[in-house]
Amino acid sequence: MSTPSTGGCLCGAIRYQVGAPMKNIIACHCANCRKASGAGASHNILLKTADLSFTAGTPKRYVDTADSGNALYRFFCADCGSSIYSQRSTMPEMLVLKAGSLDDASGLTIGMHIWTDSALPWMHRDPAVDQHPKNRPPPKA
Ligand SMILES: [Zn+2]
Ligand SMILES: [Zn+2]
Repeated sequence: MSTPSTGGCLCGAIRYQVGAPMKNIIACHCANCRKASGAGASHNILLKTADLSFTAGTPKRYVDTADSGNALYRFFCADCGSSIYSQRSTMPEMLVLKAGSLDDASGLTIGMHIWTDSALPWMHRDPAVDQHPKNRPPPKA
């Protein structure tokens, strides 16, 4: 994949670029991610907030509550509803980009599964990949 990578929402109102090489995907199987994505799990890429820049539009923010009780911000396109990224209120310097919003996510691989306690039985998980029943330890910025 080339750097910077580009992506955006379904309708095209939101466009962004990622100015850094991307790490492995973290697949989140929590119930809130399922609801927010409309899918069996959410596929997230941890990024520094400074590495994501918007070239069109501004995502709308929904304030969700994380398992910790802290606010978790979920950003999406107000026109078409596509999920773009989410961010812990306690860690504004980092965010997780929704891998499906990238124009080309084909070069990425899943490096970790989290909240597997609530994973759906029909969601395939490679047993060779790290599995965490609940959240992972906080990432280092
Ligand atoms: Zn849109
Ligand atoms: Zn989740």
